[in-house]
Amino acid sequence: MTAKDLPALGIAELQSLLRQREVSPRELLEALRDRIEIVDREVGAYLSLDFEAADKEAEKANVDLPLGGVPIAIKDIISVAGQPCTCASKILRGYRAPYNATVIGKLRAAGAIPFGKTNLDEFAMGSSTENSGIKLTRNPWELSCVPGGSSGGSAAAVASDTAFGALGTDTGGSIRQPAALTGIVGLKPTYGRVSRFGLVAFASSLDQIGPLTKTVRDAALIMNAIAGHDPQDSTSLDEPVPDYAVALDHDLRGVKLGLPKEYMVEGIDPQVKTAIDAAVKHLNSLGAEIVDVSLPHTEYATAVYYILATAEASANLARFDGVRYGYRTENPKDLLDHYGRTREEGFGPEVKRRIILGTYVLSSGYYDAYYLRAQKVRELIRQDFSKVFEKADALISPTSPVPAFKFGERTADPLQMYLTDIFTCSANLAGICGISVQCGFAEIDEKRLPIGLQLLGKPLDEARILQIAHAFEQSTEWHKACAPIAATLRNA
Ligand code: GLN
Repeated sequence: MTAKDLPALGIAELQSLLRQREVSPRELLEALRDRIEIVDREVGAYLSLDFEAADKEAEKANVDLPLGGVPIAIKDIISVAGQPCTCASKILRGYRAPYNATVIGKLRAAGAIPFGKTNLDEFAMGSSTENSGIKLTRNPWELSCVPGGSSGGSAAAVASDTAFGALGTDTGGSIRQPAALTGIVGLKPTYGRVSRFGLVAFASSLDQIGPLTKTVRDAALIMNAIAGHDPQDSTSLDEPVPDYAVALDHDLRGVKLGLPKEYMVEGIDPQVKTAIDAAVKHLNSLGAEIVDVSLPHTEYATAVYYILATAEASANLARFDGVRYGYRTENPKDLLDHYGRTREEGFGPEVKRRIILGTYVLSSGYYDAYYLRAQKVRELIRQDFSKVFEKADALISPTSPVPAFKFGERTADPLQMYLTDIFTCSANLAGICGISVQCGFAEIDEKRLPIGLQLLGKPLDEARILQIAHAFEQSTEWHKACAPIAATLRNA
């Protein structure tokens, strides 16, 4: 194993090399830094890197801890003390996080080393990372395509071998969808499973932090480190955390997988549909029983999501006013002018659109018609899932209706962009868990673009969807393929 081979490895493989003292945490960081220098010029996954601090942590790393000495990339909306936390927004220019998010403390306690912050759609609002107020991130499979979003930087880093694993956040699909579009694994935990303390809030009743990794086992390893109760987050669940990695090996005999009929509708790319059909057959051949189920309120999910997410965002983003931190306009006439111009100059167009929509649905006269009604339909969507989970252990669907699309293809019409969340946002509304794992390729202009299979699980049943995803992954070859930009360097 030479230094140039290291970036291709996953976390589980690194663990054994580190424990056998075949590689040191500092060597790992060095290999990663070299790879980032070559690859990230083109991919653009990172917003900031701090190898100096990481190197100090690596020097003292205890490789016998669960993630001892493993560098992890962090979406730049999660606070790492002393590091920038831009949320990919100009309004947080110059801001450094004064404290650590709980997940960062937990990762460090497990021995992991956060070393860099990854790009995202501004404040995690988007599905392509094109809404970043800072830079473009490209899909490692095809540089003219988006990596998905909003955790596009984390996904592109893992898919281009510039991170062994990463944290992202998922409010309506932002972990699962970019994982699908870049051919990696992404897990959105049950609402409350992972602490949100230190995560800059977008929509507080929907946001969850979770892992993006090369393999299902690696996702389980990160979950082992970050899951669990946190008194600092009042919505965090005080429930025991299983060992997700130990629980992985389990065969699928007797497992009931529900196929929601509302999810196989028109608008799905035919190549995505073919891949999902094949994945369902494959799961069936592994012993899973496939049952038809119905989630009758699915058609309202996207609308409900965009009412509730914007309402919560409009309240959460009120704190960015240029008074105590971040960007501040120059020479304001008075206080009102200061607020107005700071926010006008600091926020990008999508964030402004959401603040306006959210303020509208919360305003008196419209509150009952939009916000309150959406809350009621949210409850119906939650009930759809609880009913279906009486018949099925988990549900299967595509993660995204389409593979990665070209830059600019969906930016002109925000609604087109919103519709890419059609299969993911219900899970956030219902608070359940979901995972995306690669199940095929679409061929477009002689290029291969990954397709993701989504498995949705009952509340706190992450272990089960990890098991199913693991069985699928280990009995297929998809996870062995790697993005061309990484492949050329793997074979160099
Ligand atoms: N694409 C969705 C949105 O724009 C979801 C984003 C997310 O999960 N953070 O709101």
